[in-house]
Parts: sequence; C-alpha cells; structure tokens
Amino acid sequence: MSHSPVIADHRAEFDLRAVLEAVDIVLASATRPVALHEPRLGTRERELVLDCIDTNWVSSAGKYVAHFEQMVAAATGARHAIAIINGTAALHAALLLEGVRADDEVILPSITFVATANAVSHAGAVPHFVDLTWNTLGLDPAALDIHLKEVSVRRDAGLFNKQTGRRIRAVVPVHIFGHPVDMAALLAVAEKYGLVVVEDATESLGSTWQGQACGTFGHSAVLSFNGNKIITTGGGGMILTDDGAYATRARHFTTTAKKSHAWSFDHDEVGYNYRLPNINAALGCGQMERLSAMVEAKRELAGRYLEVFDGFTNAGIYREPNGARSNYWLNTLVLDREYAGERDRLLSALHANGVHARPLWTPMHLLPMYRNCPRSRLPVAEDMYARCINLPSSPFLATDKQ
Ligand SMILES: *Cc1c(COP(=O)(O)O)cnc(C)c1O
Repeated sequence: MSHSPVIADHRAEFDLRAVLEAVDIVLASATRPVALHEPRLGTRERELVLDCIDTNWVSSAGKYVAHFEQMVAAATGARHAIAIINGTAALHAALLLEGVRADDEVILPSITFVATANAVSHAGAVPHFVDLTWNTLGLDPAALDIHLKEVSVRRDAGLFNKQTGRRIRAVVPVHIFGHPVDMAALLAVAEKYGLVVVEDATESLGSTWQGQACGTFGHSAVLSFNGNKIITTGGGGMILTDDGAYATRARHFTTTAKKSHAWSFDHDEVGYNYRLPNINAALGCGQMERLSAMVEAKRELAGRYLEVFDGFTNAGIYREPNGARSNYWLNTLVLDREYAGERDRLLSALHANGVHARPLWTPMHLLPMYRNCPRSRLPVAEDMYARCINLPSSPFLATDKQ
C-alpha cells in the first residue's frame, strides 16, 4: 500500500488530507464519482423479470410475491412476511394495525430517515423524539426509561403524556446503518410502560443481535427494498410478524380490505392499496439469492475501512455494537469531539474527490414540520449529527476487480 500518513505539524489541526487518503485506499480505483450505495442486479434478476413479462404476471397477482415473502421469512426467521409497496407504506400500515390512532404519540429516535416520522404522521399520530446512544447509534433504552418516568402516567386507557395529554401507543426503534439496537433493554422498557414495539428494520436486513435477526424482536417490523437498501426491488417493503392473526389482518388491510371470493368484489373496511407488484417481487427473489453474499461483501468493505482508520487520531470508523453482527449498510466515520466543526469541510473535500459521502439525516426535531413535537433532551442526537458522516458502502466496492 502506498499510504503515507501525513503528520500534522500542529496536533490540534484536523488532518483532512490523511482522511481523504485513507478513503482513497479503500475505494482504490473505483470509478468516480463513487455513490453512497448503489444496487447491483444480475442475470438472475433479468431472468425472473422477463418471466413476469413473458407470462403477463406483472401486477398484483403472480407467484413471485409469495415466493419473495417466503424467502424473507426464511432468511430472518419471522413466521409471517407481507410484501408491501415500500418501506414507508409498510410502517404506516404496521402502525395502524398496531392500534395507533389519530392524536396518539409514537416514540422514535430523532436521528432516522424522515420516513419513520412521516409514517407516524400519516397515521394521524404525533412523533415523540427520544435520544440515541453511541453504543448502538440507535434509540437509547436508558434515556427512554428516564424520559418516560418524567413525562408519562399510566391510566386505564394506556400510557399518557402528562404534558400533552395524548396517549403514547408505540415505540419504533430504528437499527440505523444496520447496527442493531440493544433489543433486550428496549423490549424491557417497552414492556414496563405497556408500549407496543414496531421495529424499523429497513436498514438492517441480514443483521443479527445475539444471533437473532433484526426485524424479529418487535410485535411487528418493517423492511425496505428501495434502490439504496441492502437488497432492492426498485421500490418495496415488507411487514414481518410472528402473530398469525396480525399477519392475516395485515394482508387484508393492505389489499384494499377485499374479501376473498371467486368473483364478487366486496370490501369490509377502508383498506389500503399497498401490496407489492409481482414484477418487483421477482427482482426481490433474485436479490434474496445473494443476500448472504451481499452481507459478507459489506462486512468485508467495513473491515477495510476499519483497518485503514485503525489508530487514526482525528476520526474512526463506527464498529458494530457488542453482541451484534451488522450488515454495515452504511459505513460511518465519526470525527473526534474536537473536530465536530470540520464535518462540512471534510464533506466538501470528499465530494471534490468524487466520493459521495454525506452527513447524517438532519435530526427530526430540527425539521420545520417536526420542530414542535414532544421530545426528550437530545444531546447525543445533536452530537452524533455534528460528528458523523457516511462513506460509500456499495457491496461491490469490496468484491469488484479494480
Ligand atoms: C429507507 C427507510 C425507510 C423507508 O423506506 P422506503 O422504502 O424508502 O419507503 C424508513 N425508515 C428508514 C430508517 C429508512 O432508511
């Protein structure tokens, strides 16, 4: 390796050049610009999509939907999987099916993709933001416990926010960048307060915590198969659950609540048209065949980032939490505390170098539409936002011959 670390003449000065060089070593001669996360489709996906076109089964019926659901259920160990049009719709439906109603509050981390908060809003409910922990980059169970002790009260009808008067119905932990939340601790807090757990596992297909797949801890969970996720169906999502009755209802509710009948068109509630078309599911079947290879490649890429940043004094790569096996969906560079102010200068330099890095999503509590939502103190969320950037993480960056 030709890497010669540049020694900063002043210890306190951020060594921008050394970071750029380290990233260049990992990305080697990958074609610039290097995107943050790109899908990769192959001959198998082409074959399955062509089969949909040739047989005319491209839409809401066809064998690939059930096949895709079975493959995801088998890979995660979830008893039931219901394919949905995208991850946001999956989360929206899952929350409604869990009994989230207009004017309820739903707890979620302030740092997540906006879809988590949007799905809560789509259900007519109000997002309630709680802080994260550096241990997992996800929702902090201890902070949640302290916060609920302070702001909530148990009544016959459930848990209520004393300050807003609204019912708090559910909590949505998000396994950010594929790193699992400490689910034992989170489930214990949820149980203590009587909250339903819906996992946002959209970024964590293939990740496990204590050997168990992300997406199988909550009463329900959602996946996403958007183009930038671990596997893609173009757009797509899934609801996972072990509860048979919930699964049956989820299938019905997301298929316009149509009663099954040979010819009659009869519906028994206001349902949603949220199911995944067969042609997208066909892509998903092809992608699922390479899920483990994809996760292996992503872990290998993470290993390379970890290696070149090992011993760095200005920044480090975020390592999977204890007890977790992460899919490392997006690799995260964490600047040391004294260099938080350097984030944007580093991002500009990376972009000038053809490396499409990005900061974390703007924390939800800073977005105009969510600024006035209830929240806990959020010191870690703000610190994380100031100091983390995501680096290109497409699985083929580890495996392609450069
Ligand atoms: C991608 C994503 C979603 C939504 O998935 P879509 O399929 O894009 O609707 C929800 N939450 C998080 C954390 C995500 O990363």
